[in-house]
Amino acid sequence: MVVKAYGTPAGDAPLAPLNITRRMPGAHDVQIGILFCGICHSDLHQARGEWAGTLYPCVPGHEIVGRVTSVGAHVTSHRPGDLVGVGCIVDSCRHCSECNDGLENYCDGMIGTYNGPTPDAPGHTLGGYSQEVVVHERYVLKITHPEDQLAAVAPLLCAGITTWSPLRHWGTGPGKKVGVVGIGGLGHMGIKLAHAMGAHVVAFTTSESKRTDALKLGADQVVVSRNAAEMAVHAKSFDLILNTVAAPHDLDAFLVLLKRDGTMTLVGAPATPHPMPNVFNLIMRRRSLAGSMIGGIPETQEMLDFCAKHGVTSDIEMIRADEIETAYERMLKGDVKYRFVMDIGTM
Ligand code: NAP
Ligand code: ZN
Ligand code: ZN
Repeated sequence: MVVKAYGTPAGDAPLAPLNITRRMPGAHDVQIGILFCGICHSDLHQARGEWAGTLYPCVPGHEIVGRVTSVGAHVTSHRPGDLVGVGCIVDSCRHCSECNDGLENYCDGMIGTYNGPTPDAPGHTLGGYSQEVVVHERYVLKITHPEDQLAAVAPLLCAGITTWSPLRHWGTGPGKKVGVVGIGGLGHMGIKLAHAMGAHVVAFTTSESKRTDALKLGADQVVVSRNAAEMAVHAKSFDLILNTVAAPHDLDAFLVLLKRDGTMTLVGAPATPHPMPNVFNLIMRRRSLAGSMIGGIPETQEMLDFCAKHGVTSDIEMIRADEIETAYERMLKGDVKYRFVMDIGTM
């Protein structure tokens, strides 16, 4: 079937309307009419060729929410009419140890929602800036939030799970002091989730203007990271720092804020490397510098259910499809509170 989408033929060309072909649903496939799609900074990195290996035409979008329109004959987990989500993963090998552990995000055969290999035309996957998507049922998530919150649920499918997974893995909860660096799409979800998990949350921002907002999002304290005196107050005190910044920066400034055995986890994926940190900042207090990539399907469902129960959604600004380039430019300036979501009905 041919559907409308927004994509780009080259890294230096703006996104524009195009028609794409979706496969007819197979026995285990779910066909989804997309209602909203969140705009992740990864979409921008990929569409503009900032990471190696972008395949064109590129249709980004991996924060997909919509309604099931049809299902294959053997689908048991979803029914037409259900509200569902699709995140960053649309397939994996389904039998390796990572898949068996529900960590499909670390499977060597993981297929991304866009830019991944597929037998479907044009030979690579095309993402959620489009009217319809067809996905194997294993990778389709159930949404139980009230329907009027659907657009604000979309960013949970990437920004939510990418912060939830490391927060859970490194034991966020009552009695833990957790820092979140960068208050963008990922960072604002990190603050909300760490707060809902019961941690003491400190937000780090380069933007003085986000100070009050960070408190409203759930931070207990806010630090403007350019201010050395404010930073020094928190020396040697954090159990975990979740670093979401999308650009290279001085990691040492944050490593020294970890207490003994503390961990800083990088989730931001800048196009060029961070300056190498000073190893003594790791050695001296047995600190760890780690990374984490999105999350597996079962933990994504767990996060969605947690968010529905605790009333957690993203703070969003809705855009029309034809506003996508302006949205990218504003995202580069940190000018978004805190996630753009595309109304697919405007396509
Ligand atoms: P975003 O909304 O643009 O937020 C990034 C934030 O980083 C900004 O709002 C800003 O916060 C801070 N920042 C500080 N200096 C910056 C600079 N020079 N340039 C850009 N940002 C700067 O981006 P996002 O969607 O949250 O994504 C953040 C990063 O995570 C991206 O690199 C993205 O590709 C990556 N990502 C990784 C995964 C994964 O699996 N690991 C998943 C999704 C996204 P302040 O104004 O508060 O300083
Ligand atoms: Zn993303
Ligand atoms: Zn696998």
